[in-house]
Parts: sequence; structure tokens; C-alpha cells
Amino acid sequence: MTDKPRSTRRLVVVLGDQLNLDSLALEGFSPAQDVIWMCEAAQESTHVPSSKHRIVMFLSAMRHFAMELHDKNWSVDYTLLNDPSHSGTLVGELGKALKKFKPEEMVVAQPGEYRLLQGLQDLSASTGVPLTVTHDAHFFTQPKDFEQFASSRKQLRMEYWYRELREKFNILMEDGKPSAGQWNFDAENRKSFDKNGPVNVPSVTEFKPDQVTKEVIELVNSYFKDHVGHLDSFSRPVTRADALRTLKLFINERLTLFGDYEDAMWTDEPWLYHSHLSAALNLKLLNPREVVLAAEKAYQSGQAPIESVEGFIRQILGWREYVRGMYWLKMPQYLELNHLKATHPLPNFYWTGNTSMVCLSQSIQQTLHHGYAHHIQRLMVLGLYTLMYGVHPVEVHEWFLSVFVDAVEWAELPNSLGMSQYGDGGLMASKPYIASGKYIQRMSNYCKSCPFDPSISVGPKACPMTTLYWDFLITHQSLLTKNPRMGMQLKNLARLDAEKVIAIQNAASEHRAQVGRVKNPVNYS
Ligand SMILES: Cc1cc2nc3c(=O)[nH]c(=O)nc-3n(C[C@H](O)[C@H](O)[C@H](O)COP(=O)(O)OP(=O)(O)OC[C@H]3O[C@@H](n4cnc5c(N)ncnc54)[C@H](O)[C@@H]3O)c2cc1C
Ligand code: SF4
Repeated sequence: MTDKPRSTRRLVVVLGDQLNLDSLALEGFSPAQDVIWMCEAAQESTHVPSSKHRIVMFLSAMRHFAMELHDKNWSVDYTLLNDPSHSGTLVGELGKALKKFKPEEMVVAQPGEYRLLQGLQDLSASTGVPLTVTHDAHFFTQPKDFEQFASSRKQLRMEYWYRELREKFNILMEDGKPSAGQWNFDAENRKSFDKNGPVNVPSVTEFKPDQVTKEVIELVNSYFKDHVGHLDSFSRPVTRADALRTLKLFINERLTLFGDYEDAMWTDEPWLYHSHLSAALNLKLLNPREVVLAAEKAYQSGQAPIESVEGFIRQILGWREYVRGMYWLKMPQYLELNHLKATHPLPNFYWTGNTSMVCLSQSIQQTLHHGYAHHIQRLMVLGLYTLMYGVHPVEVHEWFLSVFVDAVEWAELPNSLGMSQYGDGGLMASKPYIASGKYIQRMSNYCKSCPFDPSISVGPKACPMTTLYWDFLITHQSLLTKNPRMGMQLKNLARLDAEKVIAIQNAASEHRAQVGRVKNPVNYS
């Protein structure tokens, strides 16, 4: 805490996901005239019931960053979560800080959440203290760039956005053409493991909690004791130095096989060849430019193949920038979208992992243990089930925002409500991401130890994913007919006789009834 009793020029607001010294909000920072304001607020962990992992990730990284600022002799006004006079909210505390410092202006880098931007703007309006919102330097593009892209197109497909950025930033380009003669190696990124599974997967980069993280873990275990998650295994990078080490090890040990096995899943193998960099990127411990550059260099030096490097860069330069653009283009209306009119509550087992469906229990339990699941687990297991079950997209969104260490709304909402739940009616995805249990059987070994059979849709051995897949097609048939990309799936549906259709509908209803009867033993509020 600082207690500088002098007039303040700027109060620089640093939010929990803005932990970069090169933030434009800190440009021209004068230790003699300006103060940095940081705050741990309970509401940020309860407006959706954040998992313990996610809370520790944010609080520990914030505390480490504040220490870095102190080391530079910069004035930091830092409110602790358990400050006895805490109002509980970020805006409440900022209001107090405005009274204390009477700054000429507040400065903040573009927040990652519409709700927070709104809160800061409202506070500025009610107090008369001007608010300057700078760009966030940790993206290649700014929301207005995406707006411009969107203004000239009927369909906002990621691929065209990605190609524009490859050219604009000269990434994986040779003589004005894409490296290795292709924009996209997606088709080469879909291998599954053979029956022996993944071999020699490098051990995950773990960081033993230091004293700061240990204190945060203790605080979270007592303050948020009813929230989901187990902190025994917390070992994520919470400083820039640790994040840089994770990046280096990823490039050296995992990137080569990243492309081949990007979509593959395997029992008790949560990490595989993914980078696990999303939280470090989203909290701004790493700059996406340095991550992309490191991968590109690995290609240029012959260390990693183009399929892997292009696949990885596409995720960061393409998808990451695209979902952020979509978020700011469509908020706040985006949160209201429910194209498929889904109404069911989220099944309780999403908070416990307690289900006999092995694909779901594996994906949920690793999420509760590590705050991590890779993209295909999120999209083609966790999101797939809620989509076909018919869970209300806001419930799905709130769960995804709660449980992952990398969860920030600009990244999470378009991915969950849009890409995964088709809530936006096809803005993000050209068709709903639906599949039967056979897809999961092809991409993993989960089905081998599951009591259900992915090729069966009705009866005691029926795989719920397969039952719900057909039920989804039956329920939304008329809506999907308009989509040319659904032709093959609807053709297969047309082959089912009336009796089978009714049997599937009954099996799906029975499954939902069974799942709905199980009550949540976890109190997460
Ligand atoms: C329903 C759903 C919810 C998601 N919620 C989040 C979220 O809250 N925060 C988040 O960062 N990502 C989210 N993603 C995207 C993606 O699943 C994660 O970024 C990725 O799994 C993180 O693991 P990793 O760092 O090992 O990624 P890798 O597989 O190693 O990929 C490299 C990087 O690319 C970026 N990336 C990859 N895919 C996406 C994508 N679709 N959107 C944005 N960035 C992407 C991430 O920064 C990631 O670190 C979500 C995806 C789905 C389907
Ligand atoms: S059989 Fe069905 S429920 Fe079981 S793991 Fe496979 S896809 Fe999942």
C-alpha cells in the first residue's frame, strides 16, 4: 500500500489480466506524479463461481507483478482481498482511491471484459474524473481493425482474417507467398494416437509455489473454500520469467509434435503436446508477438515442421485475435444470444466430474485438478455434450468462465457461446460442432474403458453422446436444412425409420431426466 499524501496526476488502473510492464497505460509513468492502482476483489471470483485454480492464478500473478513494480520504486496502491474495509468490488475500491488520491485522470489499458469497461466508464461519469482507455499492446490487432474487416464482409470466417494478418505482419511469408506454399495445414493436424497411445510425452513444466503463491493458496482455501478445484497440484507459471521458461520448453520439447496431435486425446494425459501458454498470454506475462516469433524461428531453423508451426501460429495470430475482435464487435448483445433456444440447466456433474461417461469424467476431472483442458476436450467433449443436451448457453458460458486458469471473457465467450454452442447462429462457426461418440472413439481411447458403446444410440449400452447427436439432428432438422454444410448429416438422419426416431427421442429424454435427478454436492456460490 502507498500512502502518498500528494496531488496525483494519473491513477493508472492495472487489472488482474494486465500484468505487463510495456502496457500503454504505463507509458510515460512518472513515479513522482502518478500512482498505480491494483485491487483484489472478491466479486471478480464470485460473479461467476471461479475455481480455486483460476483465483490463485490471478491473485498470485498480480502479487508478483506488484512486487516488480515496487522494485522499480513505482508507487502502487494495492488492495488485498482480505482488507477489513474492503467493499468487495473493484469499482467500490476504485471509488475510494479516487477520493484518496484525487487524480487529474484515470488511465487503463482496454479491459478484457465489457462489464469492467462499463463499470470504469460509469465511475468516471459519476465522479467527473476523466478516464483514458489505451490500446492493449499485447494483441496484434485492436477491436477497430476487426470492425473494419467485418464491415466489408457478409461472413466473418477466421481463415480470411488470419490470412490478412499473416500478410500484414509478414509472418510465415516468403516472397509474398505463404511459407511452404500453403496458408493452412489443418488437414495434417488431426492425427490420433495408435493403440499404444502417446509415447515420451515431455513432463509438464511445473513451478513449485513460492512463498507468495503459498500465501495466496492458503487465502483462497479459506476465503473461497466452497469453490471447486484442488490446489495440491497448483504449479502454473505466475511470473514473466516462469512464463518465458514455459515458452522455451514448449518450443524445444513439444512444438514438433503439436501439429500432428493437436486434436488427439488420451486417458490421464492432460497436457500432451500443447503449449499451456494461454493463461500466461491472457494475463500478459507473455506477448503474443514473442510467442509467434519463437515458433516461426523454430520453423526457419529446421527445428520444427511447417505443419506444427503453422498450426500453432494459426491459433494465436488467427483464432486468438479473431475471438477478441468478435467479442468487442458483438458485445453486449452477444451474451443474450440463444439461436437454438436451449433451455436446460447445466448438469451437476460438470462441477464434480462424477459421471460414468469416461470422456466427460476425464475432461472435467483434469479441469478441476489443473484448471486446464485442451481445445478439443473443450470443444468436442465438454462443449459438444452441453450443445447436444440443450443447455442454456449462458450456463455453459458461466461454467467455462469459472473453471479454466486462462478464462477471460473476451476469449471464453465467443468460444463457448459462439463456436461451441452455436448460440450466435453461425457467426463464428459455419455449422454446429456436433458429432456422435464415434468421433471421440476415433480421437481418443476414452471409449475403451467406458461402459457405453459409441456405435449404439438406444438401449442400456447406448453412448449418450451418440443418442444426443441423433436427437439434436431430429430436434433441429428444419433449422439445419438451410445449411448446405449439414447435407451429409441430414441425409444420414433421413435413413432412420420412424420407429428409430421415436426410440432415440425417448432415450435422449430418459438420459436428460436421469442426469437432471442428480443434485450437486458442491456448494459453489
Ligand atoms: C468452449 C471453449 C472455451 C474456451 N475458453 C477459453 C478461454 O477462456 N481462454 C482462452 O485463452 N482460450 C479459450 N479457449 C480456446 C482454447 O481452447 C485455449 O486457448 C487452449 O486450449 C489453451 O491451451 P494451450 O495454451 O495449451 O493452447 P495451445 O493448443 O497450445 O494453443 C496455443 C495458443 O493459441 C491460443 N488459442 C488456441 N485456440 C484458441 C481459440 N479458439 N481462441 C482463442 N485463443 C486460442 C491460446 O492463446 C493458446 O495458448 C476456449 C475454447 C473453447 C472451445
Ligand atoms: S462411449 Fe460415449 S460416453 Fe463413453 S467415452 Fe465414448 S463417447 Fe464418451
